[in-house]
Amino acid sequence: MNNTLTPPKNTPTSHDETSSFEPSVENEWVNNVAVQRSRINNAITQLAAKSPIDTPLCAYIYDLPALAQHAQSIVAALPDNCEFYYAAKANPEENILATLAPIVHGFESASGGELNWLHQCQSDVPIIFGGPGKLVSELAQAIDLNIEAIHVESLTELKRIGLLCQQKQANCRILLRMNISLEGIEGTRLTMGGKPTPFGIDREDLPAALSILRDFPQIELLGFHFHLMSHQLDKARHLALMELYFTTFKRWQEQFSLDVKLLNVGGGIGIDYANPAQLFDWTGFCDDLGQLIQRENMQAVTVRFECGRFVTANAGFYVMEVLDIKQSHGEWFVIGHGGTHHFRTPAAQNHNHPFYVKQREMLQSGNELNINSGLIRQKAIVVGQLCTPKDVLARQVNIETVQIGDYVVFTQAGAYAWNISHQHFLMHAAPVMHFID
Ligand SMILES: *Cc1c(COP(=O)(O)O)cnc(C)c1O
Repeated sequence: MNNTLTPPKNTPTSHDETSSFEPSVENEWVNNVAVQRSRINNAITQLAAKSPIDTPLCAYIYDLPALAQHAQSIVAALPDNCEFYYAAKANPEENILATLAPIVHGFESASGGELNWLHQCQSDVPIIFGGPGKLVSELAQAIDLNIEAIHVESLTELKRIGLLCQQKQANCRILLRMNISLEGIEGTRLTMGGKPTPFGIDREDLPAALSILRDFPQIELLGFHFHLMSHQLDKARHLALMELYFTTFKRWQEQFSLDVKLLNVGGGIGIDYANPAQLFDWTGFCDDLGQLIQRENMQAVTVRFECGRFVTANAGFYVMEVLDIKQSHGEWFVIGHGGTHHFRTPAAQNHNHPFYVKQREMLQSGNELNINSGLIRQKAIVVGQLCTPKDVLARQVNIETVQIGDYVVFTQAGAYAWNISHQHFLMHAAPVMHFID
């Protein structure tokens, strides 16, 4: 195979997987993808023109208008008694928070660090605070800030909150996070409960929790919190999970004579990385949820979502300029400027991350040596610059054309991406962070 070809003009630059993006698919978001892609490509051109001559591009690009539009349509579809919080651990970038702040009902923090950061960035947005192993100092801060609700993960945590409230002569509001059996509910790839986990309180311990609450009248029990599944792609299965939450909530209300009015149903709406055009049917889900709320007589309860991945994944793009293309023992490797130290998502999820190739417009920075090397219609492995065989972003994918100096653009890179990556490994420079607004 000749590896010094110039690709013919007008050949598609995306590999097979992304060709499913064509606007024929009935989905508003998907219809916007072509427009969005030209926005992203323009940003790449601008960033490349701005970057120093000896620095090939490596960047995260965030499409904030698309993020705002997506979040608005999520919130608009909700039934009346529902609220939508953004789980900031998916992506806590300041600009992302600023974009979402006027749209969502609040933010969920999963650590003391996030609690601080969210409060610092958007002090007016209601904050809820969950996660196992909260420090006493973090619980104290949550009480001092009088946040919307603390999600209590254990009996010990509940006692600590009670003692802190006593000490401070302060009140606070909580939800008990419960880990209940998922019997009869089909699992997803990542089940967060219904089995031994560090998250939440077992059903058997609920009487003990309620007894602790009687000792500490400073603590107001608002209701219950569940987050038992993530990567959910199936509307019907997620509805079945909601039904389980509703019936459990009502049963406990009755059994324990509780007058609680808030049910947090967690996050966990997934992204189909193998087929990104296949969006979770949120509108259909909300329609059915509205009916389920009627049927189960849950109108008087506030149903609160706290989603992360589904909100931001599609708004982020990770761009690596191609540095080298080589063959090794019969396999082609495309080596980009960057890698899993910036973008751990494919390694963390053990998947081939979807991408497209944007052709270079001219010889770019770093290519002053003018080595013209490329592939046409080849299977290749897309890797980064790390000295570990695990630095793979997509394996054995069909690439239409790619040349040194082109850009590999990973889509669906806006959630659990930069912020879950081991950024200091090998001491490579950080990517450029660019926000389209
Ligand atoms: C991570 C997390 C979420 C958000 O999950 P997504 O899958 O990103 O929607 C919501 N609630 C809790 C408790 C979490 O830990």
